[in-house]
Amino acid sequence: MCSARVARGLVLRYADQLQCSVCKAELRVSGVTRMVASAAGLLAGWGAVELVARVRPSGAWGLEILYAVIGFAVGSTAAIFVFADLQVRERHGADVFPQRAA
Ligand SMILES: [Zn+2]
Repeated sequence: MCSARVARGLVLRYADQLQCSVCKAELRVSGVTRMVASAAGLLAGWGAVELVARVRPSGAWGLEILYAVIGFAVGSTAAIFVFADLQVRERHGADVFPQRAA
């Protein structure tokens, strides 16, 4: 068991291709972190649309989609940056579907 720290910037950049600098274990962002980040992104997207609608109600639905997408991107990235939990990546052969190996 290793308790080395991985830089947050590396977690954002290589979410599925991380490697521990100390023990060389192959790591990835856990599924729970992905779900939390998705929820945070959805909330941030909704919040961005609501905020812009209150500040500047223009009625342009295309802009609301843009605000939602930007909010989702910022919220989910911030959640991964703050709460990223890493787990050891399992190795699979080329002939095994990852869904069936578990
Ligand atoms: Zn390690």
